[in-house]
Amino acid sequence: PMTAQDLLRVIADYQAVIAENRAYLIELDAAIGDADHGENLDRGMKAAVTRLAETDTPTPADVLKTVATALISKVGGAAGPLYGTAFLRAANAVTGKPELTGSDVAEVLRAGLTGLVARGKAEPGDKTMVDAWEPGVRAAERGVEQGRSMRDFLADAADAAEQGMLATIPLVARKGRASYLGDRSAGHQDPGATSSAMLFRVLATVVD
Ligand code: ADP
Ligand code: MG
Ligand code: MG
Repeated sequence: PMTAQDLLRVIADYQAVIAENRAYLIELDAAIGDADHGENLDRGMKAAVTRLAETDTPTPADVLKTVATALISKVGGAAGPLYGTAFLRAANAVTGKPELTGSDVAEVLRAGLTGLVARGKAEPGDKTMVDAWEPGVRAAERGVEQGRSMRDFLADAADAAEQGMLATIPLVARKGRASYLGDRSAGHQDPGATSSAMLFRVLATVVD
């Protein structure tokens, strides 16, 4: 099962990955947006880690909810409310559970995606975070159905999210700032899909 301690490690590792990739995410956003995605997420995840350090003996839902509120309060622009809503819905899906089974983890991911879509109204193919999340969540659910271990289905989910991220390159953006560019948004990888694929990879790495 996945414990609150595991989730704290996911968040700490994700914060480190975002800090390392701050400049890269800024560069991706410079091409089709306003060059702040790396800065936005770096600020938000640092705030999340600070708040988590002040929380004692959290449940998995507490961890996810603390991240959600940090992102919503500290990150302007599209990504803060989008990731914030995803983490909030993810938290609500597992309220009160002391630890998460494989199917709980798949439900958390599905709830996060549902929150993202409720907030941003993007569909697969719109060149957004959804293009990484959607295949990632489906791969996790398929793995649960097949009785695969959490470690294996999260690795599949990370692979699928990365493929979805790469598949945003030729797409024309239909949501968010990048959509203002019209056809000129094609030929660039979406920053939010990139940071989302990083989240799925970190999740896979923490489980052993
Ligand atoms: P902003 O565009 O406000 O500067 P960020 O740069 O932090 O915010 O985040 C941009 C990312 O947000 C995009 O790369 C895209 O993946 C994601 N995004 C934008 N609009 C939406 C939406 N409606 N639904 C899902 N994701 C979106
Ligand atoms: Mg931006
Ligand atoms: Mg911005």
